Amino acid sequence: MTTTLTILGSAAGMPTVKRNCSGYVLSVDDRLCLFDCGSGVTQEFLRNGFDPDSLDAIIISHMHPDHTSDLPYFIQTLKLEKKQSPLDLYLPDEAINIIRSYLQASYLLESRMPYQLSVESIDGVISLDKGRVKIHPIPNKHLKVVAEDVKEHGYPNRMQCHSFIIETPDKRLFYSADIGSLDDIKEHLENLDLLIIESAHIDFEEIINLIDSRDIKKTVFTHIPDAKEDQIRQVVDSYTGGKKLIMAEDGMVIEY
Ligand SMILES: [Zn+2]
Ligand SMILES: [Zn+2]
Repeated sequence: MTTTLTILGSAAGMPTVKRNCSGYVLSVDDRLCLFDCGSGVTQEFLRNGFDPDSLDAIIISHMHPDHTSDLPYFIQTLKLEKKQSPLDLYLPDEAINIIRSYLQASYLLESRMPYQLSVESIDGVISLDKGRVKIHPIPNKHLKVVAEDVKEHGYPNRMQCHSFIIETPDKRLFYSADIGSLDDIKEHLENLDLLIIESAHIDFEEIINLIDSRDIKKTVFTHIPDAKEDQIRQVVDSYTGGKKLIMAEDGMVIEY
């Protein structure tokens, strides 16, 4: 059994030339699932030599552009690479019809696709690879800050953002995506082989305390704004506890 996580993009939403935007490939015995699809993810996917026919699903945590902006290009790239195996694209409910229309408007027409693309809603446990991998979406409050505006102006947005518990046959992972604060997810941070935690909206002292007091073997700090790079590096370098802390870089492969 081999589980790996490959970081395709470790930037946050702030503009940067140093990193791609969010994208993470989970590989379990060579079946692949992509979490988020921000700018630069398509090229990093190709650079890592992944086989498009091994990719079973794309899961989008929320619709901020740093998590979605490569989506049509990625889907087109799989088409041009002649992918044949089916692909399930999981989105927040609020985005399903919009993305279907966007793909249509981008000429990614169902009748011309060499593979079957299903656009599904994140509304329960996502089961991949005949049930061997289970992904549990955890709604979080990342988009709460915009909620007042949405209410005031009557926008249709429903402010849906998810973190994910990921269960493979022998590993347990957690991908925070963007969160409001650690309060959104801390009850789930237990018994983890790998925690992939965003760095833009967390308190570092609090996360280190959580890591130290719970069974979290390895933590990757990602979603890194340029302005926080030095701080994160210092947190990682000065850590003297017994757990493993890593600062994300694009192209990094975490292997078990
Ligand atoms: Zn983000
Ligand atoms: Zn966001």
